[in-house]
Amino acid sequence: MITVEGVHKSYNGTEVLKGVSLVVPEGSVTALIGASGSGKSTLLRCVNLLELPQAGSVQIGDERVTFDGGNRPGRSEVLALRRQTGMVFQNFQLFPHRTALENVMEGLLTVLRWPRAQAKERAMALLEKVGMAAKADAWPANLSGGQQQRVAIARALAPSPKVLLCDEPTSALDPQLAGEVVEVLSQLAREGTTMLMATHDLRLASTIAAHVLFLDGGDIIESGSARQVFAEPVDPRTRRFVSSLSAVTGASAS
Ligand code: ADP
Repeated sequence: MITVEGVHKSYNGTEVLKGVSLVVPEGSVTALIGASGSGKSTLLRCVNLLELPQAGSVQIGDERVTFDGGNRPGRSEVLALRRQTGMVFQNFQLFPHRTALENVMEGLLTVLRWPRAQAKERAMALLEKVGMAAKADAWPANLSGGQQQRVAIARALAPSPKVLLCDEPTSALDPQLAGEVVEVLSQLAREGTTMLMATHDLRLASTIAAHVLFLDGGDIIESGSARQVFAEPVDPRTRRFVSSLSAVTGASAS
């Protein structure tokens, strides 16, 4: 479970998150939608404390970190919370000079200090899970975008994080390659992986998200089931945004 309360984040005096609160229940998927610049990525980065909010609190499982503007939390507190999370980025961010298998093993070896054989076994099992076992020895540059993203998902899952954070996981991919990533994320959702994901992909959000949050100018201005938000948005800003998404994808949420 992720609980975010009253998170404020400013850059050089410009408030990008204006007191955001949300709960992602254990074993469920929440999609974060909103126009470019609305703060989705910043919010995800505040959840794993890659960015430190100026105020508010973030809790994942039993780890909670509070910000009050004055005291900065200690590095060990920040790391303890971050280790509850795995992150999947829009542009994959695989290590280019490591094979698919080595990419997945990396965190297990360097952060968790697992023995090599054990790390390899877990990494192979994860590559199998995302349908990439046959490409274990391939270099990232020789993989399609969809394949790279599947390896990146395996890497994010390797240390068994409590939650998976995804920042536009399909938006760098053409529709067919996005489909294979949606497939893998859907499978994880069915298995009860707790996920918070920013996405413009109506198909992804409506397929796997139980809850949808609409962010506008650093505030969550509408939330509900995927059906409510996509099919019956209440706020005119949500309506405008959802119809712009449907127009781009040609899809309609059901
Ligand atoms: P989204 O993910 O919804 O596109 P972002 O969270 O990336 O939105 O950005 C929200 C706002 O915060 C934008 O106006 C962006 O320019 C600003 N912003 C994000 N990161 C930084 C940063 N490191 N420094 C200054 N401004 C930033």
